[in-house]
Parts: sequence; C-alpha cells; structure tokens
Amino acid sequence: MEPHCPFLIIGNSAAAVGAITGIREVDPQTPITLIAKEPQHTYSRPLISYLLGGKVDESKMPYRSPAFYAENKITPILGSEVIRVDPENHFVQAKNGERYGFGKLLIATGGNPIVPRDIEGIQSQGVFTFTTWDDAQNIQSHIERCGVRRALIVGGGLIGLKSLEALMALGIQTTLVELSPRVLSVTFDQTASNMAQETLRKNGAEIHCNTTVQSIQSDQGNVISATLKSGIRIDCELVIIAIGVLPNIDLVKNTAIKTDRGIVVDGTLQSTVEGIYAAGDVAQAFDLVEGGTRPIPILPVAYRQGWVAGLNMAGRRRLYRGGVAMNAVDVCGLPTISVGITVPATNEYEILSSLESSVPRYRKIVLRDNRIVGFILIGDIDRAGILTGLIRDKIDVTSFKESLLTDDFGLLHVPKDYRKHIVSGMGIEV
Ligand SMILES: Cc1cc2nc3c(=O)[nH]c(=O)nc-3n(C[C@H](O)[C@H](O)[C@H](O)COP(=O)(O)OP(=O)(O)OC[C@H]3O[C@@H](n4cnc5c(N)ncnc54)[C@H](O)[C@@H]3O)c2cc1C
Repeated sequence: MEPHCPFLIIGNSAAAVGAITGIREVDPQTPITLIAKEPQHTYSRPLISYLLGGKVDESKMPYRSPAFYAENKITPILGSEVIRVDPENHFVQAKNGERYGFGKLLIATGGNPIVPRDIEGIQSQGVFTFTTWDDAQNIQSHIERCGVRRALIVGGGLIGLKSLEALMALGIQTTLVELSPRVLSVTFDQTASNMAQETLRKNGAEIHCNTTVQSIQSDQGNVISATLKSGIRIDCELVIIAIGVLPNIDLVKNTAIKTDRGIVVDGTLQSTVEGIYAAGDVAQAFDLVEGGTRPIPILPVAYRQGWVAGLNMAGRRRLYRGGVAMNAVDVCGLPTISVGITVPATNEYEILSSLESSVPRYRKIVLRDNRIVGFILIGDIDRAGILTGLIRDKIDVTSFKESLLTDDFGLLHVPKDYRKHIVSGMGIEV
C-alpha cells in the first residue's frame, strides 16, 4: 500500500520552505512529506552563479540549516522525480514507480530551462543550461577538464547576465548573444540596457544583439565554436543556454488541475482542484501591479506564495495580495534593479527620470494615478526598498513627488503615518 501523507509537498526550494513555515505556524504536529527531484538539502538557487564564479563556497548554499527537516517534522524524499499527479485518487507517482497518497498537496516544482532543439550540435559536450546546483558543478568540472578559455552565453536576460558575471570572474573571455535588440529587454528600457551593455563591453565582454546561435561545432564531441544567424563564428569551449524558464507543469498535464502559463491558482493559492495548491515559479498567481495573473519567477515571491499556501493548507484562511516582478543584477560592479512596470505600453503613465551618464547613474520612476507602479535604478540602488514598499502599499505620492528623484530621498519624505507603518515593520513584506 502506498504511504499516506497528510501534507505532501513536491519541491524543496523557496516555495516549499515558505509552505513548511506556513503550515507549522498553524499546525506544529501533523507530518509533512517533501519530495524533490534534486538530491541536495534545500539550497539558495540565486547563489549558483556566485558559486560558479567563486564568490561563495558550498557552505553558503543551504537555504535553511541542516536541522530544518527534523525540526519541522519533515520526511524528505530527495532525488526522486514526480511524474504524475492523480487528483481524483489523491496520489502522486514518482519516476521510480513509488506512489504517495496525500491529504493536501502543494506543487512547488519551479521552472524548467528552455532548450531550443533546432540548434544543430546542441547535444555536444560543453553545452549547458544554468538553473541548478548540479549545472554549476557540471560547468565547473567542464571548465577544469577542458581548460575553457572562451565561452558563449545564449540569452541576455537575468540568468544570462548572472552566468556572464560568473564566467568573467573566472577570467573566461565571454560572448553573449541576445535575440532582441538589447540585453534585459523585458525589464529594462533602452537607456538602462545601453548602460548595462556599455559596462559589460568596457569590462571585456562581447555582446551581439538581434541574433542568436544557429549551430554549434564540435571536435570529438566537445564544443569548439558556434555560428550565429548573422554568420559570425565564435570560438568557444563552453556554451550556456539561458533563453528562459517555463513553469514545470508536465506532471499535471491532462488532469483537472487547470494550467495556462503556469498552474492557475486562486487567492489562497489553491488550484482548480480542492486541496491541491501551487506556489512559486510554477504558479500563475495575482500580479499586484499589472493586474491579472501570471508567473513571477523570483525568490521572494516564491517564498511568500508558499507561506500563504501553507497557512491555507493547514486551515488558516489567508489571501495572497499579489506579487511584484523584480530583477536585481550586478553588472560588472554596476548595481541595477528594476521593479514592476518599467516600460509602459500606453500613455496613461507618468514618467520621472534622471540620468547622469558620467557616474553612471539612472533613476526612472513610473507612476499611474500618482501611485508608483515601477522603477529602474542603476548605479545607486539604495532607495529600492522604500520604492518597492510604496508600490506594494499603493501610496499616493502626490505630496512628495518632487523629492522622489532627489539624492536625499528617504523615509523622511513619506507621510508620517506611512513612515510609522514602515518603521513598525508592517510595511516590510517579502
Ligand atoms: C541563476 C539564477 C539566478 C537567480 N537569481 C535570482 C535573484 O537574484 N533574485 C531572485 O529573486 N530570484 C532569482 N532567481 C530565481 C529564483 O531562484 C526562483 O524564483 C526561485 O528559486 C523559485 O523557487 P521555487 O520554489 O518556486 O522553485 P525552484 O527554486 O525552481 O525549485 C523547484 C523545486 O522543485 C523540484 N522539482 C521540480 N520538478 C520536480 C518533479 N517533477 N518532482 C519532484 N521535484 C521536482 C526541484 O528539485 C526543486 O527542489 C534566480 C534563478 C536562477 C536560476
């Protein structure tokens, strides 16, 4: 007979940890079972680029202490992939044939990197994606084994730029190709992308936009070069594919659990099947600024959604307020952050901006109806926390709008009541 798990969580990362915290706040006793494909103790995914680049060592990777599972009465089943969820019969099936019955289920399976199968030679040794600790270790071994001196990164989004940073820190001559006209095109405007590209180039990276890889050449199975659609050939011994991540929803295909861009959830993070929840990169939940629902694949959102799901799974009703998209990348020492709507598609928005190319420093704030709905900061990101708070709390900024771009903008400028709210900790929400 299959084991029965009153609380079953698929996944072992930010959303799963958030859910465990939520469940235990309400129910300290009932056993929780956690199944995850990756074999490692829960770890901090954003750190894999720092691990590869040698900025942190393995001791910094755990997302929670070694005692976390025991302290929270968790049975972890690590290194086991769930291939099917059966909502009618309340069990999940692992790849090794094992089945686990559940009372309440959380799906927190995150995303899978997109790999374009039509690139000739993509199966060559030395071609990697970059989303897991194993990826970081495999890339590291390849670099050591093959004495990699030149690398190519395909994709100029967050993961592409984070891998670029890691490889450059290792002294590897790196080229980045991006299909759109500029890097970070989803989250940055033209000015911000230009600043990032300029900084990367100054630091020795080669950037090619408006093109991608057409084929990869190898010698005895090992990558030796890649040819771009533009015809340019790049000599490289390593290729990292970083063109995006899609919610990992295969395990619920052809079930009553509705999917769209991710697993569709309501305000309690419950899916369209009662008792089955989803959180994190796999979930399509409410977007606080854009309205509507969509996956927002960042760690604080995953944790928060997991926590709300956990509370509801354990019987305490709590509604999720919605997430705000956010990207923070250090571009060769140039700190950058973009939050919410940064390139508005219509003219119902007001834009405040200031640019000092010589520093370099750029601030752009996007408002709708006198409320901040997004911003970009480059060079000086100190005020990101307070601006994000103003977005989340939908504060009318009319009375202090002129000070938003000033050098000394801070808590003193916001209305007294709101300041108290922030200082008391109420406004700080991950
Ligand atoms: C290189 C990189 C840098 C990043 N940098 C940042 C950053 O600076 N800031 C930020 O906010 N976010 C960053 N992110 C995004 C952030 O890591 C994710 O948003 C966050 O990890 C999502 O958490 P999650 O729990 O939803 O899913 P994930 O972290 O993707 O974890 C999914 C879990 O599910 C398990 N799993 C998946 N499929 C199955 C299955 N079929 N059966 C069993 N288990 C399964 C996996 O093993 C894993 O434990 C970065 C991501 C990457 C890859």
